[in-house]
Amino acid sequence: MFPVSAGAGRAQPVVLAAPSGTGKTTIAHRLVEGTGEFVFSVSATTRAPRKGERNGMDYEFMERRQFEERAQRGEFAEWAEVHGNLYGTPRRALEEAAGRGEFVVLDIDVQGARQIRANFPGALLVFVIPPSAEVLVSRLRRRGTEADDEVVRRLRSAREELLRAAEFDHVVVNDDLARAVAEVRRVARAGGARKGADVALMIAQLTSQIDRVLEERFQNVGA
Ligand code: ADP
Ligand code: 5GP
Repeated sequence: MFPVSAGAGRAQPVVLAAPSGTGKTTIAHRLVEGTGEFVFSVSATTRAPRKGERNGMDYEFMERRQFEERAQRGEFAEWAEVHGNLYGTPRRALEEAAGRGEFVVLDIDVQGARQIRANFPGALLVFVIPPSAEVLVSRLRRRGTEADDEVVRRLRSAREELLRAAEFDHVVVNDDLARAVAEVRRVARAGGARKGADVALMIAQLTSQIDRVLEERFQNVGA
């Protein structure tokens, strides 16, 4: 079991999840910048490095066989297959950082978040949402997701993922970046989760905005 339990002022893993394009990666990087209090969990993966990615910084890249051996030895706090590749959170780094009183930030998928929830009851699961469907579309574009059919595919999966927001401890709207980062820090330090009362309403508004955007702006795109 994880040696750190939930409670005010105690370090706990912070899991970030969000529909693609919301700003999860940006928030994770900002959270760990300039502070030793929040550190990034470097996952192991069997996927090939992308341009600019550094081994040991972005991911620990490895062959499938090596990953499977490590998984069998119980070296991962959680692991999952995502789009045909294996991804896992090294258990030792997580425990060592928590032992030093640091908040470990996990950028993992929903399957991984569920395993962390089951194995680490003290973990804080944060779901990040965009302020509106229009903003989500423009962030997807800005990040380089140019093709309409790709935007449509991501909007549709965003709609599905938004319906899972209730499984998380806290929902953060990524409107102003500095404000959103400060909110995650505050909730982690408080050691408890406080779901905003209007989360259900925000999710309902976002999903209906996505439906409208898909119908009005992308009706001729078959994805
Ligand atoms: P994700 O990891 O959730 O897919 P990214 O972190 O790659 O998303 O962000 C998508 C785009 O939105 C990037 O161009 C990023 O710079 C921008 N972005 C992220 N957060 C904000 C914000 N609060 N305000 C404006 N732009 C943002
Ligand atoms: P990418 O290959 O684009 O970096 O990541 C693909 C997906 O895998 C993202 O949703 C990312 O959050 C997720 N992911 C990255 N590392 C891990 C991990 O260690 N465990 C799990 N379960 N998912 C991960």
